[in-house]
Formats: sequence, structure tokens, C-alpha cells
Amino acid sequence: MFLSPEGAALVFSDAPDGARLLAHELTHVRQYRRAGAAVFLGSYVGEYLGRRLAGARHAQAYCELSFEREAEKARLALEDISDVDDCSTGSGQDEAPWRRSRSSKRGSPRIESKKG
Ligand SMILES: [Zn+2]
Repeated sequence: MFLSPEGAALVFSDAPDGARLLAHELTHVRQYRRAGAAVFLGSYVGEYLGRRLAGARHAQAYCELSFEREAEKARLALEDISDVDDCSTGSGQDEAPWRRSRSSKRGSPRIESKKG
């Protein structure tokens, strides 16, 4: 996991963006554990260089990497649960919010977005 000092400060803050950044970076941890460090790094750099040699600019080549897309998917999945109340809000329910979401929607930890 590679975090800048700013990124590390964000992860350890209470800001929702910290959890999202962590989800992104932990996806990379899962990726290199799955593939092995050498294969992960080789594939990552190879894919990046292939896109650059094909004419893509840095930002485009980076954002289109399969590893980055998967990590972004994990980060964006947290958008849906970022507005869930935690235990400290005292909602009067017996069950914790994450248990309610699980039991109401089996097999999926995601919660319907209020944004529509
Ligand atoms: Zn990334």
C-alpha cells in the first residue's frame, strides 16, 4: 500500500474520504496477494507502459489500468454506505445499522443510496 503523508492523514481521520481511500488501497493489497508481488508489479507497469506507448497521457493511462479500475470500484462502493448512522446516534433500534442492512438485503452489504 502506497500512501502519501496527506493520504495517510486522511485515512486516519474521521472523514468519509479516508475510508474510501483505504478501500481503494486495500484492493491493491488484495490484488498483489492474489497475483503475487512480482506478477502484480510487472502487470501494472507493463499495462501502464503499453498504454503510454499507444499514445495515452499519464492520467488516462493510469486511470484505465485494470488494477486501478477495480480499486476505484471498491472506493465508489463505499459512497453508498457513507451516510449510514453509526451506533453513537442512538436510533432506538436494537440492531446495529450494519446488521439491519445485512438482514434486509441478504448477500449484499450495500445500502440503497439516498441520492437516487
Ligand atoms: Zn490505485
